[in-house]
Amino acid sequence: MVKNLQSTFKLHNGVEIPYLGLGVYQMEDHDEAVSAIKTAINLGYKSIDTASLYNNEESVGQAVKESSVGRENLYITSKVWNTDQGYDSTLRAFEDSLKKLDMDYLDLYLIHWPVAGKYQDTWKALERLYEEGTVKAIGVSNFKEHHLNDLMNASNEKPVINQVELHPRLSQQSLREYCHNHSIAVEAWSPIARGKLLEEPTLNHIADKHGKTPAQVILRWHLQNNTIIIPKSIHANRMKENSEIFDFSLTLEDMTQINSLNVDERFGADPDNFDF
Ligand code: NDP
Repeated sequence: MVKNLQSTFKLHNGVEIPYLGLGVYQMEDHDEAVSAIKTAINLGYKSIDTASLYNNEESVGQAVKESSVGRENLYITSKVWNTDQGYDSTLRAFEDSLKKLDMDYLDLYLIHWPVAGKYQDTWKALERLYEEGTVKAIGVSNFKEHHLNDLMNASNEKPVINQVELHPRLSQQSLREYCHNHSIAVEAWSPIARGKLLEEPTLNHIADKHGKTPAQVILRWHLQNNTIIIPKSIHANRMKENSEIFDFSLTLEDMTQINSLNVDERFGADPDNFDF
């Protein structure tokens, strides 16, 4: 049951990840990022989602060190970037991420995108890191059903998580069902569509009814779909707003109305057609 900021989702390997975490994409200024992450931790956030691409693993590490919450009480995710994919280069990229974070393990390590011809070897490297215990759980990001089928047909470990673009304009119904059927947790990136849906009339109507904001309504919709969320904000007031989603429930009618906003619209790249 999702009760509060500390509520967790139990992954298929038994590891528990907080339902709500802080995304840190585009927090590039070091001091600003350290300060924002410390603010989130002070507000009760337990999970931070970074990636080598974001160029802020040092900031995450420093914020964790300077916070009053011990490393062992936090959940840290990073990702291997596309140009580092392949077996040996992934192992090197992981070491580099740990060094920047100044940590001796990660809670979750993800393949950032399904780079054709590479992600299978990348996954073998993640399996090795998992066996060695330097990462507590391994997963993927931006994988469609066919990527997941392909990966699972040729590997020992099943990904615990698939982190994908997911919001009311891109509800990913069939991928969510596929993941559910394979016990793979779904984690939403751009969960509030980078703020692009906050003027949407249906969301505003539902928000007014509950005395909440459109961002809170979207985040609550995710939780009620059993989706893990990592909204990003640099602002304390928005981090707080994004975390105040445990004291109300959307009705079945609200959920249906939000579901009907889906138009399969991506704001990010299509995992079958990306060139980075
Ligand atoms: P989000 O949907 O989290 O939106 C973030 C944007 O919305 C920022 O501009 C933020 O501004 C603004 N915002 C946040 N909260 C509010 C609010 N309550 N009201 C109004 N505006 C708000 O998008 P992201 O793309 O950042 O996704 C979240 C995280 O997902 C990333 O940070 C990253 O960790 C991960 N991600 C993963 C990807 C992948 O390929 N695996 C791809 C993209 C993201 P401000 O900061 O100024 O408050």
